[in-house]
Amino acid sequence: MAHRTHCHASKFSVGLAVVVALAMATVALAQTKITAPKNNYSVAQDVELGRQAAAEAERQMPILRDEEVASYVERIGRSLVEAIPPEFENREFRYSFKVVNARDINAFALPGGPTFVNRGMIEAARTEGEIAGVVAHELSHVALRHGTAQATKGEKLQFGAIAGAIVGSIIGGNVGSIVAQGSQFGLGAVFLRFSRDYEKQADILGSHIMAGAGYDPHDMANMFQTIERQSGSSGPQWLSDHPNPGNRYAYISKEARYLDIENPIRNTRDFDGIQARLRGMAPARSTEEIMRSGQRSPQDRRGGRYPQAGRIDKRVEYPSSRYQTYTEGNLFRVSVPENWRELPGNNSVTFAPEGAYGQMEGQDIFTHGVEIGETRNETHTLKEATDEFINALTQGNRNLRRESGYDRSSIAGRSAFATTFSNLSEVDGQSEIVTVYTTLLRNGNFFYIIAVAPEDEYGAYRRTFDKVVRSIRISDY
Ligand SMILES: [Zn+2]
Repeated sequence: MAHRTHCHASKFSVGLAVVVALAMATVALAQTKITAPKNNYSVAQDVELGRQAAAEAERQMPILRDEEVASYVERIGRSLVEAIPPEFENREFRYSFKVVNARDINAFALPGGPTFVNRGMIEAARTEGEIAGVVAHELSHVALRHGTAQATKGEKLQFGAIAGAIVGSIIGGNVGSIVAQGSQFGLGAVFLRFSRDYEKQADILGSHIMAGAGYDPHDMANMFQTIERQSGSSGPQWLSDHPNPGNRYAYISKEARYLDIENPIRNTRDFDGIQARLRGMAPARSTEEIMRSGQRSPQDRRGGRYPQAGRIDKRVEYPSSRYQTYTEGNLFRVSVPENWRELPGNNSVTFAPEGAYGQMEGQDIFTHGVEIGETRNETHTLKEATDEFINALTQGNRNLRRESGYDRSSIAGRSAFATTFSNLSEVDGQSEIVTVYTTLLRNGNFFYIIAVAPEDEYGAYRRTFDKVVRSIRISDY
């Protein structure tokens, strides 16, 4: 009797071993193999870009200083980082996890590892698995170095301008002003707005990472659906930065079938506790509200962005009749007089001649030239978005007086408004003319041009501004 039992038992375990071996062979064959895209940047550059951009992000966004919430997100993040497959480990990378006290459903990860999750994302999630899903997806972009890979495909980029650019696209909602707010632009499109190919890669690698950390990859797909459902008609920033390659749910499910996930982590006591804790706090503001109030964080009292060399002169060189074309990230191209300098900010770029830009009382100002920028927009029509923008502009420039209605105009083939104002220059109190052109991008974001010249020179500048505006080409596919 004892002998027979033993015999059966050992036969049984041999059988099991064969089944396991077969299953492993299937896994190896069926899991989608991922290859990181071509990248001309060094790993050290990823780290440096991410470090600068993270510092900038923390200056501009309020970080939620709550030990329990912070360590909860950190814990989820760490367990996912440990599950990154060895071929995508970069030893130089430093993954970190912070919670932004903003209501919008958003999260972003910067090259080299700094990762930010909005409080709104944690509040919207229905399970811990859903939070892990978004974080795993973000980590996958970092591990595959998608930010710099995307830049590799693009046109020449100035390294120094990039970090601020990344933040520009995160923050979006910055409301521009003639007294520019010190932030930069559209290159961010290169870093955080990914192609559909990269999205699919991040979904697949994200599935592997989730399974490795004990989560069910289906929860990643569930979170994407939660985001779509909860963010209303305008669509949140996260979805425009991470476009759905199509059939997201289906291919993630398919991938999940080949991954070994038993008793996945879904809801945890910690998750319920953290959501209750957040509900007990004062509600978070939206990113747009944070940007508009200008009170991002107490340490946001830094100098402006214009180079030290910038200074305001009485005499400014007349606009050159020769033009130079600049490409700003993936978003737009513009031609400006050759003797104007490019002054990148976070959500905007200013072009101005020597002697026409500099700082006053710690703020960037320009007296001749154009500022071109993009901001996030939560309204539906160009009219409403323009109203809001002009309101904000008027608040920052108290002497601004509107001289015209919203005149119909066009920018890059889209319908636009042109509105003219008079203003008193911060420099010498003389009259200046300000024309604001506004239009909407295909993703609903707001695109603007602010053209400024002293009143007594405006006749001469008017033609230049017309030419600059007509030269703009936008690629917001
Ligand atoms: Zn993505």
